Amino acid sequence: MNLFQYVRPAEQKTAIAAVAAEPTARFLGGGTNLLDLMKRHIMQPEKLVDVTRLPLKGITQQGNIIRIGALTRNTEIAEDKTILQNLPLLAMAINAGASAQIRNMATTGGNLLQRTRCPYFYDTAMPCNKREPGTGCGALEGFNRMHAIFGFSDKCIAVNPSDMNVALRALDATVVVNGPKGERKIPIADFHRLPGDTPEKDTNLDKNELITAVTIPISPFSKNAYYLKVRDRNSYAFALVSVAAALNMDGNTIKEARLAMGGVAHKPWRLTDAETFLKSKTATEENFQQAAQIAFQGAKAFKHNQYKLKLGPNTIVQALSVASGLKSV
Ligand code: SF4
Repeated sequence: MNLFQYVRPAEQKTAIAAVAAEPTARFLGGGTNLLDLMKRHIMQPEKLVDVTRLPLKGITQQGNIIRIGALTRNTEIAEDKTILQNLPLLAMAINAGASAQIRNMATTGGNLLQRTRCPYFYDTAMPCNKREPGTGCGALEGFNRMHAIFGFSDKCIAVNPSDMNVALRALDATVVVNGPKGERKIPIADFHRLPGDTPEKDTNLDKNELITAVTIPISPFSKNAYYLKVRDRNSYAFALVSVAAALNMDGNTIKEARLAMGGVAHKPWRLTDAETFLKSKTATEENFQQAAQIAFQGAKAFKHNQYKLKLGPNTIVQALSVASGLKSV
């Protein structure tokens, strides 16, 4: 690890100014991803601005909106009564991620900024356009078993590794940020980016902006929700594919559907065409299979991740079947 400065401001304004003053400075929250990246020389900030003493923790409800402070730990969210009652999909997704020890440390803001787990990104001996723009993509012709099937470019085929982000995408969350130019609110759909020609940029957050909270509207999707993650082992493994499914149902009829996937794209991937298809349909396996086929139109696999073209639709059908009550877990 390289030498770096460490500061721990008591005020948000001071923290933002400290990061803005140094081109390589970074905010430090739980450190569960950033410190790994620093140890491997993938990120080398000369200054860390520890924000963990800022008053950005806690979960509050204001009317129809739940606000989660950016420093709220993943475990706190997954165990919070308001979340379990109104947004169980979010709790399920968080509990599917990482390990208990990491969830105890990881913050909401840090989870949103989690970087890809592409092995070539972590191996500094290999080319990687995300780590070092213009060097090429080791995964394109390499071992791309974990990689994207939607929204990739010839510069990068990595996926976003977060489970929480998939649930936030299905639940239409908003990311609240503060920076030198003041506060702004970014819909989750616009927060993460597709790689295009600039895979080094994971999000549309400016470097000097601090995530302060996430807000999520309470919607009629809490009763019929399920997060299904398929992975190589049952704990501490990233998704091969995952599905966040939430249904607003009237008896056996789907009034509205929310579907998002993880492990398939550079950002949490919303399945809007499948959602449209499911509107006013009866909850049957046949309809779920048709929705899954619609969702996978346009999917394209690489040499080692062909299996996702079959696993993905099957996971959608299973997640919808459990969410609707057609099947039990
Ligand atoms: Fe780097 Fe993206 Fe290629 Fe992985 S897929 S090697 S992160 S450019």
